[in-house]
Amino acid sequence: MTLPTPTALVADDDETLRILLCQALANWGFDVMAARDGREAQELAGKRLPDVIFMDLMMPVLDGYQASRAIRQLSDGLDIPIIVVTGHEDLESIETAYEAGVTDFITKPINWALLKHRLQFVLRASRVRRELRASEQRYALAAQGANDGLWDWDLVHSNMHYSLRWKQMLGLENQAVSEDPSEWFRRVHPDDLPRLQNELEIHLSGQSGHFENEHRMIATDGSYHWMLCRGLAVRDDCGQPVRMAGSNSDITRRKAAEAQLAHDASHDALTGLPNRMLFTDRLQHAIGMAQRRPDYAFAVLFMDIDRFKVINDSLGHRIGDQVILVVAARISACTRDNATLARLGGDEFTLLIHDIGGPELVTELIDRIQNAVAEPLRVDSHDLRPSLSIGVAFSSDNYQSADEMLRDSDTAMYRAKKMGKGHFAFFDGEMHMQALNTLLIEAELRTGLATGQFILRYQPIVCMGSLRTVGVEALLRWQHPQRGELVPADFLSSAEDSGLIVPLGRWVLREACRQMKAWEQAVELADDWFVSINCSSREFAQPSFVSDLEKSLAESRLSAARLRIEITEQVIAANRRLAEAKLREIRGLGIRIGIDDFGSASSTLNGLENLPIDYLKIDRSFLHAPDRAHDRFELMKAVVDLVHKLEMSVVGEGNETGDEVARLKRLSCEFGQGNYFLEAVRAEEVIPLILHGSGWTGD
Ligand code: C2E
Ligand code: CA
Ligand code: CA
Repeated sequence: MTLPTPTALVADDDETLRILLCQALANWGFDVMAARDGREAQELAGKRLPDVIFMDLMMPVLDGYQASRAIRQLSDGLDIPIIVVTGHEDLESIETAYEAGVTDFITKPINWALLKHRLQFVLRASRVRRELRASEQRYALAAQGANDGLWDWDLVHSNMHYSLRWKQMLGLENQAVSEDPSEWFRRVHPDDLPRLQNELEIHLSGQSGHFENEHRMIATDGSYHWMLCRGLAVRDDCGQPVRMAGSNSDITRRKAAEAQLAHDASHDALTGLPNRMLFTDRLQHAIGMAQRRPDYAFAVLFMDIDRFKVINDSLGHRIGDQVILVVAARISACTRDNATLARLGGDEFTLLIHDIGGPELVTELIDRIQNAVAEPLRVDSHDLRPSLSIGVAFSSDNYQSADEMLRDSDTAMYRAKKMGKGHFAFFDGEMHMQALNTLLIEAELRTGLATGQFILRYQPIVCMGSLRTVGVEALLRWQHPQRGELVPADFLSSAEDSGLIVPLGRWVLREACRQMKAWEQAVELADDWFVSINCSSREFAQPSFVSDLEKSLAESRLSAARLRIEITEQVIAANRRLAEAKLREIRGLGIRIGIDDFGSASSTLNGLENLPIDYLKIDRSFLHAPDRAHDRFELMKAVVDLVHKLEMSVVGEGNETGDEVARLKRLSCEFGQGNYFLEAVRAEEVIPLILHGSGWTGD
């Protein structure tokens, strides 16, 4: 790029000097204009601004000082280098010239070679200044256009320059604002200050390429303005920040719009209450808190206006909306500040309440809400009496997600609806799980029964005197295809609840009889060698119970003397008169009867003497007790003696150790049964026991 030809103006009334200067400048490639006095110089410069001016101080019409001042007034006249040509000793006039805006001086006689170089320096300096000014102007214009307030922070001396606009943004334009950084920081909202300081710190320490932060600043009228603050640090050679400058833009309106958008997205338009999204969010938060803090309990109320659809359909949406608004306000008036009331949509509201003491407090709150909502309501000459159905779910470890809890409170609400208008129901997680489990197990039990997944195991009953096996107890097992072998504790209550215990019990009876017959045929057995089976209340209560026993014995052609049944005292207590009659019938068949689990629960020997009982099984919890429970032992001893007087025998159950077996002996129990001898085994394993006995010593 070729530079345009530079121009020069020479103003001197001394013709010789003027011509010499013009000549030299022309030689150096300048376009030269010449003036004989200050006025002419001013006029020429006004027409066409030169790149450099040589000015004599003493000139007619307008002297050099006046001409210089006039030229500086011209637009763009500020940056033109004005060089005066003076005599050697004239220091005073140089001083005055400087004040008039003259840039530099040369002395007479002129050193032409030096002047040429001097000129280059002067021209370069003026070009740089012009560029700088232009850039500053551009920047100032841009900042003005962007409406930004500027700040410039001298980190070394810790003072800060704030631009006028910066001050205006806060209403500080007419106030004294010191050059102190605190003028900024003390106006920042306390909530925003730590983050601002942190981000400044990060930038100054060199961890961020540029600084940007949004914070609120208080204006003189007390209102807060959101500022987007951006800046950049300047560093010395060691990388230490020495200065930082930046801008503030007022983004209050943008923030307000954002906040409005966020509010609209999370709130219901009709009532202004939080919507499902915000509620779910808060609920999820509460669930998280409950997981961290075991003492924290909360509840979700799911509320639905009764028969709202009727109101809406018959009276119209406008009245429907009115009802929703009133109900929302009435619920809201009953709740504490930290509760979240939300409208999920339609006529459904949810309420999240924190730190509930217990269900009573929730019941009280529900009472208050239902009473408040049920106040008579007049909308457009319609008299209404709204009511709410409320379902409650309490926080529990089982809840992972807000949706689960909402679903359960909803389920409870439906249960409340079923009870009629204005009712409430608590969701019971336990019940839910149980109901679900029972349903599941029930279906599985059915298949299990149909596909032969049940088996019987047999536990020997041992004579304490001879240490010989006198019989076995049949114990039920479920060979579950997925869960492996299950014991009665895993499925018995479900079987009882669902009534499946009845067919299951019939199977046990038949199977035990069949097996007993098979042993009888396989080996020689003592006449009184037996199998005992357990039966629960529900089985025992079956009208067909006795005939089932008869039928099974007949089918298997088994002698009744080989079969024993075990019942608990509770089975008898459930209906004593009926039980008594039934037991006599059973006994009449020749089947022996034992009382199971004696001493485990509320055992009474009450009326035992009138019942056809053959033996008593002492629960393992009794034997398990250490010897220091001396009184207990004495009591048990008395019981055993009494039982013996009633001509019943006693079986000690669940003996695991030699100690326990020794205790059995001291109690004068005739029989023992427990893992010390043998646990329940498969049918095939029983024959060797019968044939060879075992190595039990009983010590
Ligand atoms: P139960 O009639 O008191 O049977 C004795 C239980 O104690 C059995 O548990 C047996 O395995 C266990 N046991 C035996 N010796 C020991 C020992 O040394 N230590 C310990 N800790 N336990 C021992 P199982 O087989 O789990 O049966 C539990 C209960 O289920 C039985 O208690 C009985 O009430 C019931 N049950 C078992 N089979 C049937 C059945 O076919 N029909 C009905 N209705 N109930 C049954
Ligand atoms: Ca038993
Ligand atoms: Ca028992």
